[in-house]
Amino acid sequence: MAGLRNAFPQPFSAAFHDSYVCHTVLRALDSLDDLKNETPLLGGREPLDYDTARTVTLREEGASVEEVVKDLVSFFHGMTIWGHPHTQQNVIPPSTLPSVVGMTLAHLYNPNIVSDEFSHRVALAEVEVVAACASLLGYDQDEVGGLFSFGGTATNLYGVKVGLEKAQPGAMQSGVREGLVTFASDSSHYCRLTVAGWLGLGTDNSITIPTDDRGEMDVGALRTGLEEAIGAGKKIAAIICTMGTTDSFGIDDLEAVVDLRDELVETHGLQYKPHVHADAVSGWAWAVFNDYDFEVNPLGFAARTLRALAGARHRIKALSLADSVGIDFHKTGFAPYICSLVVFKDGHDLQHLGRKPETMPMLYQHGDYHPGLYTLETSRMGGSALAAIANLRLLGRQGWQSVLGYIVDLSQHLRDLLEGQPHIRVLNRDSVGIVTLFRVYPEGVDTFDIERRELTDSAMREEVRTYNEYNHRIADYLHERAMQGKGVAISRTDAYRETLFGEPVLALKSYLVSPFDNEESVELVVRNVLEARQALARED
Ligand SMILES: *Cc1c(COP(=O)(O)O)cnc(C)c1O
Repeated sequence: MAGLRNAFPQPFSAAFHDSYVCHTVLRALDSLDDLKNETPLLGGREPLDYDTARTVTLREEGASVEEVVKDLVSFFHGMTIWGHPHTQQNVIPPSTLPSVVGMTLAHLYNPNIVSDEFSHRVALAEVEVVAACASLLGYDQDEVGGLFSFGGTATNLYGVKVGLEKAQPGAMQSGVREGLVTFASDSSHYCRLTVAGWLGLGTDNSITIPTDDRGEMDVGALRTGLEEAIGAGKKIAAIICTMGTTDSFGIDDLEAVVDLRDELVETHGLQYKPHVHADAVSGWAWAVFNDYDFEVNPLGFAARTLRALAGARHRIKALSLADSVGIDFHKTGFAPYICSLVVFKDGHDLQHLGRKPETMPMLYQHGDYHPGLYTLETSRMGGSALAAIANLRLLGRQGWQSVLGYIVDLSQHLRDLLEGQPHIRVLNRDSVGIVTLFRVYPEGVDTFDIERRELTDSAMREEVRTYNEYNHRIADYLHERAMQGKGVAISRTDAYRETLFGEPVLALKSYLVSPFDNEESVELVVRNVLEARQALARED
C-alpha cells in the first residue's frame, strides 16, 4: 500500500512529494521534447498495429510510476504537433499554458461540477464563463443560463433539445411524437444528423437548405421550407444557423433568420416560437471584434485584414439575437479538448430539461448550484470551465483580437500568393475566415473560368471527376512530404460543395489556427503545391 500511495497526489502537505509530481511530469515533457524533429510530428510515424493492440490483457503485476509514464509517452510517437507552423490541417489549435494548468489542476483535485457540493468554488468558474460569454455576445447577463458539455455536437444537442421541448411541450416525459423537423444549411456540420438521430426526431427530419457560394444559407429557401413544413402540420424543433462553417467559414444571416421566424410566428399564429440555435462553435471568437473601432484600427491591421474582420463582425454581431449559442473553446479559444459551452439567452429555457430532485436521491444534499438537475451528464469535469476562465483572463479581448487578426492576415496572404499562380484557383477568395480552399489543375487547363464551368456546366462532369482525382493525388503527395519534414501538412475536403449537376467538388484546405504560423509557412504551402504539380507531371 505504501508504494501505491506514492502514485497518488498526497492529501496532506508534502512538499517533497510535490517535487516528485513535478519531476514525473518533467520527465514526460523531456521525453516528448526529445521526439521533436524537422517534421511537424513527435517522433515518426509507423503503421498502427491494431492486431497486437487487440490482444492486450490485464497484467498480473503492476508497474512503477516511471514505467507507466514511459508507456504513456510512447503513445505520442507520430502525434501531430498542432501548434507547428507546418500543420495547417484543421481547426485544432495549440492550447495555452494557463488552460493546460486549469485542466491539470482539475485532474489533480477532481472537482465534479454536477453540483457545487462536489466542486465548491470551481462551480463558480462555470457561472463566470457563462457571464463573460454573455457579455461578449451581447446577451443580458441577468437573463442567461449556460453550461459546459461534451463538444460542439453537444451544444447543438442542447439547443435542439430545448427547441423540441418548446415545440412539443412535455416531450421529455411523453416521448417525441412524429412531425417534428429541424432546419440547417447544407453546409452545416453533420452533427445536425447526430442530434436528430439521437433525440429521436429521425435524421430524415433534419431538413437542409441550400447555401450560396460563400457557404451562407439561402434565407428565401428557408422561408419556403418553413412554410411548407408549417403548411404540412409539422412543428419546428429548431432552426440552426451556422456561424462559421467548418470547411469554408460561411456565416449565416442570423438576423434575417430571426426576423423570418418572428414573422412566421405572427402570420401563422404559431403557439410556440421555433428555437433559433446559433452553431457558432467555430466563429464565436470573432465576437471580440463587436466593438472594435475599424476606423481608428488601434491594432494596426492591414486593409485586407480589416475588411475580412469587419465582414465577419457584420454577421457575428447578430449572435445576441439567437436563442442559444454554441461555443468551442477548443477551437478558436486555444483550450484543450473538451471545452464546449452552450449559452441560452433566456436561462429559463434550461427548465425544459429539468428533472425533479426526488429522482436523484444521492445528489444535492448541500449547496446552491446544481446544474446536474438539467445536464445530460452526471459526472461533469471542472477542467473545461477552468481552461476557459484561464484563456478569458490570459487573452482578454485584445489578445484575442491580436491572434485572430494575425491568422486572418496570414490567410489573406496565402490566398494572394495562391491567386498569383496560373494553375491554382482559390475557391473562397471572399471568405472572412482562416480556412483557405483551393484547387490545382494540370498543364493545359484554361483556369480562367474553370471554377464557374465546373460548378454549372453538366458537360464538365468527367472533368470535375478527373480534377477531383488530380487534387486528391496532390493532397496525398503533400501529406507524404509533410510527414517526411519536407513541407506543410494541409488537408482536403472531398466535397467543399456540389456542382449544380450533383457532383462533389474536392478542395485542398489550409487551416491556419496557430500563433506560430508565419509568412514562411504559408509561402511554403505554395512552393509545396508547385512541387507536387511537377512531381505528378513527371509521373503521368
Ligand atoms: C467542429 C464543429 C462542430 C462539432 O464540434 P465538436 O466540438 O468537434 O464536437 C459542430 N459545428 C461546427 C460548425 C463545427 O465547426
